[in-house]
Amino acid sequence: MNGTVLQPEFLVRIDEDRCDQCKRCLEYCGFGTFSFANDKILPNHSKCVACHRCVTFCPELAITVVENPLSFRNHANWTPRHIRDVFKQSETGGMLLTGMGNDLPYRILFDHLVLDACQVTNPSIDPLREPMELRTYLGRKPDVLEIKRNEQGTDLLKTNIEKNIKIELPIVFAPMSYGSISFNTMKAICMSAAKLNTLMYTGEGGLPRDLYPYGDHIILQCASGRFGVSPEYLNVGIGTQIKIGQGAKPGIGGHLPGEKIPENISQTRMIPVGTDALSPAPQHDIYSIEDLRMLIYALKEATGYKPVCVKIAAVHNVAAIASGIVRAGADLVYLDGFRGGTGAAPNIVRDHVGIPIEVAIAVVDERLREEGIRNKASIVAAGSIRCAADVCKAIALGADACAIGTAALIALGCHVCQKCYTGNCSWGIATQKPELVGRLDPEWGAERICNLLEAWATEIKEVLGALGINAVESLRGNKERLRGIGLDRTILEVLGVKPAGIGMGDYYENRG
Ligand code: SF4
Ligand code: SF4
Repeated sequence: MNGTVLQPEFLVRIDEDRCDQCKRCLEYCGFGTFSFANDKILPNHSKCVACHRCVTFCPELAITVVENPLSFRNHANWTPRHIRDVFKQSETGGMLLTGMGNDLPYRILFDHLVLDACQVTNPSIDPLREPMELRTYLGRKPDVLEIKRNEQGTDLLKTNIEKNIKIELPIVFAPMSYGSISFNTMKAICMSAAKLNTLMYTGEGGLPRDLYPYGDHIILQCASGRFGVSPEYLNVGIGTQIKIGQGAKPGIGGHLPGEKIPENISQTRMIPVGTDALSPAPQHDIYSIEDLRMLIYALKEATGYKPVCVKIAAVHNVAAIASGIVRAGADLVYLDGFRGGTGAAPNIVRDHVGIPIEVAIAVVDERLREEGIRNKASIVAAGSIRCAADVCKAIALGADACAIGTAALIALGCHVCQKCYTGNCSWGIATQKPELVGRLDPEWGAERICNLLEAWATEIKEVLGALGINAVESLRGNKERLRGIGLDRTILEVLGVKPAGIGMGDYYENRG
């Protein structure tokens, strides 16, 4: 027997009474799902990935994409997902690749945490009438502030304050490498960061020269492959980032297939056209905290002592690792949880390696406080921040700011089809094909991302008002304003959060 035993995941239905045969769906699908023959639009169901580009732009609303209802016999152990994966691997002999975040139904802890609100004895604040401060300073803060009085009797700050990065809301854009995303996507994010007065990170693919003018809002990444890293590149931005790991694939390096390396990517990454860009799993000059310290200070010296961020995947020993990173001299610790998105990751690593960001934030914040070094670095948290409520809860758990990647791409039209690694993104986001890249207008995209974050900023202010605080600073690490619902005692203890129904005071000590 030849051929596949895999059935299509999706079925594409064309309502022939509605279809006027404009053939836009043929043009719009980046995956080649449609053809035209015998006066009919013919879908090849096997090619459909449910990216919904055709559905969105069919002028007659003639297209419906549904999950293939094909039912495997009900089996609690051999789920359709396991059976399909065995089919795929027995046909290809290869590792399964995927993109856009862990989709297994792990419990999402953010959805089991609720925030407090003021009632009667502690007044709330109306954010429409009172100023609300979302401004955030990322970087090292001094242990103490020393003031000295001069001869004229004026008090002057004696303490030397190290460079911090000022952002007007506690949300930044996560690293997504040039090559995995298109130029127009990166430009839309740069424009959004500049307009919102926040920052974006480059991924490991460098920064195209045309985007250098946005440098005041960019932290430049230096990853294990050193793609696109030069003294000029490092000095374009407001800081640098050493990437040790990422949440979607902890412990492994990046892989950008040669098909996604045309001329422009090759120039920026400084590698030949069409070659696979494989970055090593570890940074080969870092095997200890001392090695990390050397690279942190090399970057500081190369950039006039701009802040250095170290990015790690959230793993079991994250608190101790973060402590070492701060002691090595990093100004920011970037934590990436295991639900984080990426353009391409092996299924097995994306879905089964790492820990949730909620846990990582709580234990790192706690550890740094215990050691008296929490002021020495800011915590940026990422790994599936989906809404303003997630941002508030992450900050209450101990983050200084959150980074969004997938949410920004969804604002640009991404429908989370998880096929970024194919390079065929119909929305022009995760592709280098000129005919697809041109579909995304950076101005249009920037407007949508700015709308999204302006909406989130308004929502965060509403929450702060309800909590009776007027600055996001006062929410940071304020776990007393969080409560858990439906979480067992062990995970509540790890998070440092009390169960709902318990008021102020020390619950655990009283209960023993
Ligand atoms: S885009 Fe819609 S109306 Fe146009 S050919 Fe395709 S199904 Fe028909
Ligand atoms: S970026 Fe494109 S390919 Fe990737 S999940 Fe979104 S729509 Fe699909």
